[in-house]
Amino acid sequence: MTAVYLSLGSNIGDRKDYLSRALQALDNLQQTQVCQVSSFYETAAWGKTDQDDFLNVCCRIETDLKPQELLSYCQKIEKELNRVRHEHWGPRTIDIDILLYGQQTINDDNLKVPHPYMTERAFVLVPLLEIASQLTLPSGELLREKLALLETADVIKL
Ligand code: ADP
Ligand code: MG
Repeated sequence: MTAVYLSLGSNIGDRKDYLSRALQALDNLQQTQVCQVSSFYETAAWGKTDQDDFLNVCCRIETDLKPQELLSYCQKIEKELNRVRHEHWGPRTIDIDILLYGQQTINDDNLKVPHPYMTERAFVLVPLLEIASQLTLPSGELLREKLALLETADVIKL
């Protein structure tokens, strides 16, 4: 089993419900268990203020799925949860990003791990470090040292 950290976000509809259903769907995957889930955090949408605030959560799963298999399943869950409410295109109800897959570095066309923007996003690092305060990047850098460089005031724990 490999420890994998995921970031989930939603800013449409019943955000809590979407996040909960996505976590349940992940736990239901073959060879996969959701082992740790952070608090839910609300992040005020910046720029466009007519957009709903985001709700974000991070989790640790233990899985035997290969990185590409896991990505496919995450995208399948995104599609299934989108389809329930939205018949047409529109803002996504759920986004699932693979942050870290063990300590592997992956540079496939469709899959970059560590997630390229994770160290720039307080709404990713705050929930992530809540469940794994000592976590490092494959480079050996501590993620909490990355978080120390970011503004975190607008990431509100629910
Ligand atoms: P975003 O998450 O950037 O808002 P999407 O969820 O639509 O946008 O993802 C866009 C693409 O990002 C996907 O087609 C996927 O192949 C690619 N991708 C690359 N690396 C990752 C990763 N670590 N986790 C999830 N998707 C990734
Ligand atoms: Mg995504």
